[in-house]
Amino acid sequence: MSAPNIANCSLRELRTLLDENKISAPELAQLFRARAKQYSHLNAFLRINENDDYHPAAGNFLDSLPIAHKDIFCAQGEKTTCGSKMLAEFVAPYDSTVVENFRNAGMNTIGRTNMDEFAMGSSGEHSAFSASRNPWDENYVPGGSSSGSAAAVAARLTPVATATDTGGSIRQPAAFCGVTGIKPTYGRVSRWGMVAFASSFDQGGVIAKSAEDCALALSAMAGFDERDSTSLPQPAEDFTRQFDQPLSNIVIGVPKEFFSDGLDNKVASRVQEAIRQFEKQGATIKEISLASVKHAIAAYYVLTCAEASSNLSRYDGVRYGFRPTENNDSDLTTMYEQTRTQGFGAEVKRRILIGTYMLSYGYYDAYYRRAMKVRTLIARDFEQAFTGCDVLLGPTTPSPAFALNAIADNDPVAMYLQDIYTVPVNLAGLPALSLPCGFSGALPVGLQLIGAPLAESLLLSVAHEYQKQNDYHLQMPAGVQ
Ligand code: GLN
Repeated sequence: MSAPNIANCSLRELRTLLDENKISAPELAQLFRARAKQYSHLNAFLRINENDDYHPAAGNFLDSLPIAHKDIFCAQGEKTTCGSKMLAEFVAPYDSTVVENFRNAGMNTIGRTNMDEFAMGSSGEHSAFSASRNPWDENYVPGGSSSGSAAAVAARLTPVATATDTGGSIRQPAAFCGVTGIKPTYGRVSRWGMVAFASSFDQGGVIAKSAEDCALALSAMAGFDERDSTSLPQPAEDFTRQFDQPLSNIVIGVPKEFFSDGLDNKVASRVQEAIRQFEKQGATIKEISLASVKHAIAAYYVLTCAEASSNLSRYDGVRYGFRPTENNDSDLTTMYEQTRTQGFGAEVKRRILIGTYMLSYGYYDAYYRRAMKVRTLIARDFEQAFTGCDVLLGPTTPSPAFALNAIADNDPVAMYLQDIYTVPVNLAGLPALSLPCGFSGALPVGLQLIGAPLAESLLLSVAHEYQKQNDYHLQMPAGVQ
């Protein structure tokens, strides 16, 4: 089998190749590492491992299969930069639970993927280590913040990559890159050792080619962790356990707010085609309304900036991370100032400033408390929707990928509006996934499926039924061989 064909294999196919000794574990990892180097101009990887990085876990389905980790997950003795100059030289003193779980499953880490600084961004352009590129068109962004993970899977540089989603950072880049990504229920994947952005939103998950591969990887990734105080008590499960059930019992809700004015025509058409496909497969389609989601972007940016301003106060040049070398004899305040001025990029500073303002005396009630009320209303809207629907469906993003540098630095709101269909889910803590549903010209379009709390297995099975009927998830970008 040729290298591109192997690179396009599903996890089950790779498992079979290994089990039948058609390829060895080191050869398989070497194949993906070589591809990661060959496509280094995509900037999907920040670092590619020179050697194998795994302990065999014989009998485990994922044993010896390659994986790449978003550079937000700590791995003991290794750099974890979070896409920031602030952590450019930071070496993690312990493993995140996510890294540990995949290590225990025997997966071979081939490298660390690029990302927007501190996971703040929707394009990958906020990485302190240069923007990743979209493998479908290198002049376009891959989305963000899990830019490198999505680009790497799309270019077949790894079969699966970890990612995180605070407001869409798994689903939006998955949509832009024509791959599948799942953000589980808040608390399903441990946040231990995952660099914090907005702790009541942050959630780890995976990006892979298909829903099936996402399910297989998530089964190793999820589960209760006593080191994360918001970890859910549910143990990991086999997320493929509901696969291959007909869709005839499934009611799919389509929120009308997800088809508002700002939605690109081609994206709307692809999503409508997907709706018809689900209908053909027996699902019942029902139009619903989520009245409060129109306030989601505003509430999301108030709350996440507030949490970020608190979380990022730890980067003060004292305990760890960047500290400027000049003016070493300056006073403490000057040292703090210089550390944060030089260590953080513009977007991170903007959010710290917004967040600090929101939490300041006199503004807390006007902004933070009101945003918390909106959060509750949105959660109730979803709760109500799930009394009559099993799954909700809509576009993942308002448009396909946009060109690099197309959204100007002085217009952050234009960038924030990219998240219009993804952030409601994070405000409510729900599981959701994005899967490819066709193209707009040469660029992929993403379909979003949203589930009730802990409904990952159902979501993945519905996505899997859809993927049995088309090959969008198997198509490779023209420039990728
Ligand atoms: N694009 C969103 C933001 O910039 C989401 C980021 C994320 O999910 N980490 O906040």
